[in-house]
Amino acid sequence: MEIKDFIKNIDLMQVKHILCVQPHPDDNEIGMGGTIKVLSQLGVKISYCTVSKGKGGSNELSSKELIEIRQNELREAGEYLGATQFYQLDLDDAHYPSEKEITSQIVEVIREVKPDVVFTVDPYLLYEAHPTHRKTGMAVLEACLFSSMKHFPEPDAPVPPVTHQVKAVGFYASAHPNTYVDITETFESKINAIFKHRTQFDEQSGQMIKMYLDMQSRNNGKIKGVERAESFKLLPMIVTHMMVESESY
Ligand SMILES: [Zn+2]
Repeated sequence: MEIKDFIKNIDLMQVKHILCVQPHPDDNEIGMGGTIKVLSQLGVKISYCTVSKGKGGSNELSSKELIEIRQNELREAGEYLGATQFYQLDLDDAHYPSEKEITSQIVEVIREVKPDVVFTVDPYLLYEAHPTHRKTGMAVLEACLFSSMKHFPEPDAPVPPVTHQVKAVGFYASAHPNTYVDITETFESKINAIFKHRTQFDEQSGQMIKMYLDMQSRNNGKIKGVERAESFKLLPMIVTHMMVESESY
């Protein structure tokens, strides 16, 4: 018997509630928009958490203007795919928030939302240049572990926190995926949702990302045996601590 048969990965199609944590207001749509739509159509509750308000995302608008517009774009895109709950952390790219700051704020959100699975960007994407992406991925992994521990953030707190055990963590934008979701029927919705982030795409960059995601979804589809798919590294929480086998999942 293999360890993978003993500690089985979860079936995404059976989950009830997911939390999608994105470094910036448009990452969930780009990384997993098709899957969010698939799951919301199955009745899965979708919650969003955004780490940075993305005020560095335009050279034309002032930070204040951009934040307000991007908050509206974020909600419009998320609701279009079926998300019903939105959390915004107040961590700013320009101030390089520490992983610890991000972790403790995400733990609070996980304890309130109580999701089965938490999704985010893969912190082990080797050449990822954006620090908020690297830190968010790692902070979410830590937060999924710590949200179940009464001693976090404070040992012996006079009122112990209400903890929550996440069943699995899922990484999008992963170079080592182990899970593919058929998004043939929802690819168009994914692209429509991405284009709701009007401050982020002009004609040329919009066409570029559409072509890239078109090719990417077809490549993933070949592996899954469908027309189009999105890919994830999905790990049951139990293998995320002291388990060398986690890499083989
Ligand atoms: Zn981003």
